[in-house]
Amino acid sequence: MIEPRAGLGVGGGYHSPQLDVAVRLNTNESPFGPSTDLLSRWYEEVAKANLNRYPDRSASHLRGVIANYHGVDPESVFVANGSNEVIQTILLTYGGAGRRSASFEPTYAMYETISRTTGTSYLPFERDDNFLIDAKSAIAQFDQDLIDVGFICSPNNPTGLLEDLDIALNLSANGERLIVIDEAYGQFNEVDSVQFAKGHSGLVVIRTFSKIWSMAGLRVGYAIGDPRIIENLWSVCLPYHFDTSKAKLAELAFEYVDEMEARVGFLRAERDRIMDFFETLPVTFWRSSANFILFRPDSIDGHKLWEMLLERSILIRDWSRWPRLDNCLRVTVGSAHENDIFMEALSDIL
Ligand code: PMP
Repeated sequence: MIEPRAGLGVGGGYHSPQLDVAVRLNTNESPFGPSTDLLSRWYEEVAKANLNRYPDRSASHLRGVIANYHGVDPESVFVANGSNEVIQTILLTYGGAGRRSASFEPTYAMYETISRTTGTSYLPFERDDNFLIDAKSAIAQFDQDLIDVGFICSPNNPTGLLEDLDIALNLSANGERLIVIDEAYGQFNEVDSVQFAKGHSGLVVIRTFSKIWSMAGLRVGYAIGDPRIIENLWSVCLPYHFDTSKAKLAELAFEYVDEMEARVGFLRAERDRIMDFFETLPVTFWRSSANFILFRPDSIDGHKLWEMLLERSILIRDWSRWPRLDNCLRVTVGSAHENDIFMEALSDIL
């Protein structure tokens, strides 16, 4: 039987077990769904839509709405089914055979995975001891290894730390390279990478509906960048890749910005409450600017702690066997009730 291309196939994908538990704090989703008002308006719109027809191929109305929200031109906006698909389209367009991508480990694992599936050589550079990117060595490495596409995740997953965006700008070398600023966790902090990247042809910012918009199940993501880059992404993605119903939902969502901001404000306060709690425990943790917190227990094996939480039907993300993250675990900020259960269990065990 024919084998997949070298490096692909069973065992190579994304690993985060979806177990049946009472408290699920492992994949950085929102604990709340979108509002019922938004959903019922969406159902009405979908019922009226011409679903026998293919969607508007360039999602022009949605692009206008997103552009308006960020204060950019619609030509600067690309949309896809989640930001993973945005990353894939970027690598199909600017990566591939003979091209090189890079990021700074530990970081979001899909940069490496999607590089592999698109035939792009991925180079894993290291962060410094504080898990930040060292500008000088990063620039030297990008120059030496002739990187075409670089990924900067800010705040970084799984550390939750914000990156200095000037590094992204310097790495782009005036547009000779494409630097992707992955702002999946934008809005959980004060930084706005879209404003920072405006006018810089080598920077593209990607955002997702999976976190702040509470719609991980619906798969919406987008990129904002120089119209010439964006036009190339539109030419590579599949025709009609973004369906009519989802476009309607995303358009409507922007009428509910206040609700989104209230949810995000609540989660930010809960994140700070959990970090205050961590201060009182024998754990090391990293001050997060996202909706999750990376921590390392001082006195117990990380994987053992993960198992003990799982026995109590609490699922968090186990990073304890990951390079440089030995013994580390990551908890997603949930509802107040879920966070209480998590914190009670943790103080009980520790
Ligand atoms: N980027 C980062 C940094 C993420 O953490 C995630 C999801 N965990 C994604 C992108 C993918 O998000 P989406 O659901 O939009 O594909």
